[in-house]
Amino acid sequence: VRRARIAAIGGLIIAAAMATSGCATRRASVATASLDRTHAVAQALDDGPARNVILMIGDGMGHTEITVARNYARGAAGRLRLDRLPLTGACTTYAVQETNPQLPDYVTDSAASATAWATGHKTSNGRLATAARTDAPLRSIVELAQARGLRTGSVTTAELTDATPAALAAHINHRSCQGPADMARCATFRKRIGGPGSIAEQTVDHHLDVLLGGGLGRFEETVDGGPYQGHTVIDSARAQGYRLLTNAAELEEAPPGEKVLGLFADGNLTLEWGGEPAKPFPGSGPQRCVEDLRPPNEPSLAAMTRKAIALLDGGPGFFLQVEGASIDKCDHVGDVCGQIGATVAFDDAVGVALDYAQARGDTLVVVTADHAHTSQIIPPPEGEDRHSPGAYSTVITADGAPMTVNYATNLPGHMQEHTGAQVRIAAYGPQAANVVGITDNTELFSIMSRARRIGK
Ligand code: MG
Ligand code: ZN
Repeated sequence: VRRARIAAIGGLIIAAAMATSGCATRRASVATASLDRTHAVAQALDDGPARNVILMIGDGMGHTEITVARNYARGAAGRLRLDRLPLTGACTTYAVQETNPQLPDYVTDSAASATAWATGHKTSNGRLATAARTDAPLRSIVELAQARGLRTGSVTTAELTDATPAALAAHINHRSCQGPADMARCATFRKRIGGPGSIAEQTVDHHLDVLLGGGLGRFEETVDGGPYQGHTVIDSARAQGYRLLTNAAELEEAPPGEKVLGLFADGNLTLEWGGEPAKPFPGSGPQRCVEDLRPPNEPSLAAMTRKAIALLDGGPGFFLQVEGASIDKCDHVGDVCGQIGATVAFDDAVGVALDYAQARGDTLVVVTADHAHTSQIIPPPEGEDRHSPGAYSTVITADGAPMTVNYATNLPGHMQEHTGAQVRIAAYGPQAANVVGITDNTELFSIMSRARRIGK
């Protein structure tokens, strides 16, 4: 019954999307305003349990980043795939202070935010699935899912040891401790003194079924304690049953039934798009972005998502996290084209997850961000006394109109900062209604674990 209902809502959504895109792009808001969605929303409500949960995280994908990508790639009245999820809300993302965890830290980093959705607990910036002040490990949704016999996977365009995936597969006091050679800030966690080791070591030791991303260099570092002392982290992975994948062709050919560790770049995966970075007055551009920059030996986020689902499917159910990491990384350096390309690539991956969920009817898909970010859409500069003090770039969008994107949370040329606004959260499938309204990122843990009945 549920499958039929979801097929119906899928059809309604597609019909609504076609009605929107069928209008000339500048007039579609009229069609949207006249569309009564009451029935579609009622049909989207599904209180049954989920067999699978897919969490899609756009790192740094605040409302502005979504709008910038939509305007550029689809036009102001166009729609991305992630705009078409039936049930939408807003999510607060604040962290807490390390020295006084009773006080909020209004601007979170990806580590504290990932800890919140992965464990249900707030922590301080930089920490991964450990409590502020105490280092106490916080149990993650991957560990709970594994305890229930589910398959688990984690996919990212960043290094697999980067903060977002790391919160699922490691407990450590600082995100910088990515490999056994990077442990300066995590001395008590070293393997050689009996600790659980770096993020790379813990990631392998956590035995997720599917691990796909970048960060090969971290896994080539040498384990400094325990049964694999003196061998690389990759050696320890192979000894624990992992098949190593290093390019897109190997990913395609990987058979089911084996754990896979896909490391497709030494560091982060290559950006999809590029162009002129933002600059101080008079800014860069106007420009169109250069597309298709990712080399074909590196898989796209959509290809990794499709393969991860294929490998995890067919068992007792699964939990999969998919991260579009480069939205954040480009925001930090004012790379507007890199940011848009990363958002569009993330949206393609959302499409893969939604296609799977819509065909099955038993999969909860949640799409959100870990925090808001720098970029703002501002009026084009109008002279010496009327322009942003930050760096900006003007791009020519799919509408054929100029859009100026501003980066000014730090001085031009310096690392731009995250921001503290709430972010979009949207969902499809069983118990998707729980994202409606305003929730906190810690509640996302409960929403996902309750939908799959893997709670404590
Ligand atoms: Mg991240
Ligand atoms: Zn960041």
